Amino acid sequence: MRLMEGRIVLESPAIITQRRVERGFVKPADHIPGSMLRGAILTALFRSGMLSQADLKREAEEPSLLASPAYPVWNSARSAPATPFMFYCRKCGTVIDTTPESTDMLRRDEEPRLPLLHECGEPYKPLYGSLIMGANGKLKGVRVHTFRASSAAIGKDRGSIVREMLFDYEAIAEGTEFWAWILAPDWLHTTRIEVAVGRGQSRGFGWGELRLEPTSQPPQQTQGVFVAFSPLLALQSLQWGGCTVTQMKIFGRTIRQQAGWDYAYGFRPIVQLAGRGSIILAEVSGEAAAMLRVGLPVKVAGSWLTGINALLSVDDYYRVLGD
Ligand SMILES: [Zn+2]
Repeated sequence: MRLMEGRIVLESPAIITQRRVERGFVKPADHIPGSMLRGAILTALFRSGMLSQADLKREAEEPSLLASPAYPVWNSARSAPATPFMFYCRKCGTVIDTTPESTDMLRRDEEPRLPLLHECGEPYKPLYGSLIMGANGKLKGVRVHTFRASSAAIGKDRGSIVREMLFDYEAIAEGTEFWAWILAPDWLHTTRIEVAVGRGQSRGFGWGELRLEPTSQPPQQTQGVFVAFSPLLALQSLQWGGCTVTQMKIFGRTIRQQAGWDYAYGFRPIVQLAGRGSIILAEVSGEAAAMLRVGLPVKVAGSWLTGINALLSVDDYYRVLGD
């Protein structure tokens, strides 16, 4: 297997929903979940005849292709989730980052103090979990460009529009670019894949080209502070492919959430997840460097959850934000 970096440019608007806020309206996601990206790649390979039904079944039982979440790219800069130690002053428009000092304190088993007010007197807004990128040596917030689209449900009987089933969606604009890490098994030879993500694919929503390029293997950190590049299953120990992650401490929010987008079974168990951007004190053993970037799959109630548990060392995290 090889670690690849993937780039997707949307050729049509994508309806990727995060959660239902009220009836008929769904909050848009600012990223492509790793499990959705993985499913999109496998579906595309099946559609083009490169994978058989049996291959898909095997992939559901024993995942070999894995994907991290895909986050937006702006002006060729990659974005990533902010840590709990990043803050924004609305008045001055500045981002304050205390991650290096705070993670040093965590390593020494001290409790980091979170700043409350900027020097101008304005209360800080926490950036934790939102997307940031580096620009001219500074950090700034990232938002994907969305617009509101209406979509009618089509009645199965006559192909007619069902009036009371008109949904409003926020769609991510075409032209938006995302980046992700992909763990490519040896059988994957293609580097350009036409994928579709989100809802309304048969009506042309969510299509884009994924390009894969080999990327350098990151140096392995066996112990210390990691940044959660995706949501992280709050389990004491994660094990997969000869690699073990033992979590000692999580600094961040954990929430109970339906995990899923499982392309094979549509099965969505409830799990305890730490949000993206959370800081984790952990020990890692095995040849884990590439696997940590896409996240260790976890079997819950007989089904593999993927696209979670991606971890970066703090140095690696700043390398992503730095270029
Ligand atoms: Zn200020």
